[in-house]
This record gives sequence, structure tokens and C-alpha cells, in this order.
Amino acid sequence: MLKGNTAIVTGGSRGIGAAIAKKLASLGADVALLDIGNEEQAQLVCEYCKSEYGVSAAYYSCNVADFEQTKQVVTQVSKDFANVTVLINNAGITRDGLVMMMNEKQFDDVISVNLKGAFNMIKHCSRQFMKNKCGRIVNISSVSGLSGNAGQANYSASKAGLVGLTKTVAREFASKNITCNAIAPGFIATDMTADISAENNPLAAQIPLGRPGTPEDIAGAAAFLVTSPYVTGVVLRVDGGLGM
Ligand code: NAP
Repeated sequence: MLKGNTAIVTGGSRGIGAAIAKKLASLGADVALLDIGNEEQAQLVCEYCKSEYGVSAAYYSCNVADFEQTKQVVTQVSKDFANVTVLINNAGITRDGLVMMMNEKQFDDVISVNLKGAFNMIKHCSRQFMKNKCGRIVNISSVSGLSGNAGQANYSASKAGLVGLTKTVAREFASKNITCNAIAPGFIATDMTADISAENNPLAAQIPLGRPGTPEDIAGAAAFLVTSPYVTGVVLRVDGGLGM
């Protein structure tokens, strides 16, 4: 289905990013994993994609918050791989704290990675998408960006910002066969949520489907958006019904 296409996945070494990379590889896409430093883990994901699905896969060290670094890495990926048409902006961090306790660095760091990082990647990949006459961008937002979440002013603002970025990019590039959508995951079991067990998280108890999500639940949604050329500008909640 995606044979002949290359997907860039940021934060692809573990959690949701790794699951998305594997899912896209299972559909035939070659994958370029961008990650800030977890080379060993990222290489394992690359090896899995290659051996399991026979696609090409490579790891690139990159801080998505760094404008110049993202520019260089996208240029390098475009030399190493043919037909870059998919971008998954998944890299994200949390630096939680109530507003009264949150310092400037906590706020700036989260906005820089989660929101500016997505802008950097979209900006640099857009040239490739125009050249290849196709682009499928998926930004990983969060239900926190839609409803807010006490203790996460920085994170919620970054994820709400991604929604505005998604819709604007969708409008700007629609005529060029470039779609841009967002996924708003609910409570997904990954390293990011490892210290919030499903048992002591009041949100988890309210999930109508009765369980936390898995990275594979998000990967399935990402694959749907990547393979749906007539869907753009949507924010797809994948939250077990939490937002109903
Ligand atoms: P995770 O397990 O903590 O993984 C985050 C990934 O992002 C890691 O691969 C990490 O690299 C990478 N990363 C962090 N900062 C980076 C940077 N500056 N440049 C490049 N890569 C960077 O998180 P996750 O739970 O899979 O979350 C993935 C995305 O889903 C995030 O955007 C998160 O906000 C969003 N999300 C998660 C949940 C949830 O419940 N888990 C819910 C809603 C939304 P290293 O491995 O090198 O550290």
C-alpha cells in the first residue's frame, strides 16, 4: 500500500513512534527514524522493520526543536531515500507542574519540542512533498490539548497549538495533494505514562472501553490517516471514548 514511499517518524525509538514506524513499514513504507539520542533502541526498530517487512530503514540523530538540525537531517533523508511523502510528528516531552510552580524553562522546553519541532519538520519536508506531488502529515496531539489538564499548562498549550498548526497546514497545502491531520491520543501505556499506573489514574478509570490504549492503537489510526487521501484537517481522538 505504501511501497515506494518513505515515511519520516520523529521520536521513533520507542512508544507510539516505534509502533507507527513498524505499522507503516508493514504497509511497505521505507522508514527514517529521527530521535534525540536513543540510538540503540532506534536501531532495534530499524532492524525489525527491515527483517520483518523487507523495507529500508535508518536512524538519524536529531533534536526536532533545532531548526538548522532538522533542516540538515531532512536534506540527508531525502538523499538517502526516494520519494519522501509521509511525516509523522510524534516526538514529544512532558515537564509537568502547576502553573504557580512551573518555571520558564519547563514551559519553553515543551513548546520547543512539541510544537516548534512539528513546525520545523513540516517546513523542511514541505519542499520534498511539493517535489514528490504528495504529502501525508500526521501530528500527534493529545486530549490534553483539547480539554486541558491541570499540571500540564505547557503540554496542553503545545498540543492545542498542534491543532491550529494542523488545520492551517491542511488549508495551505490542500491544493498540492498534501494532507495534514492530527491524532489526539488519550491515556496510552508507554514510558511517558509509566509512572501513572492505570489503577491510580482517575482518568483511566473513566475510559469507556475499560483499558488504557496501546501504541498499536495509535499506529492503526496513523496508518488510516496516511492512506486516506480525502481526509485533511481533522483531529482524530483515539482515547477509548474518554472524550465523549
Ligand atoms: P515516549 O515513550 O516518552 O517517547 C517519546 C519519543 O520522543 C522518544 O523516542 C524520544 O526520544 C523522542 N524525543 C523526545 N524529545 C525529542 C527531541 N527533542 N527530538 C527528537 N526526538 C525526541 O512518548 P510516547 O508516549 O510514545 O508519546 C509519543 C507522542 O504521543 C508524544 O508527542 C506524546 O506527547 C503523545 N501522546 C502520548 C500519550 C500517552 O499517553 N503516552 C497521550 C497523548 C499524546 P528518546 O528515546 O531519545 O528520549
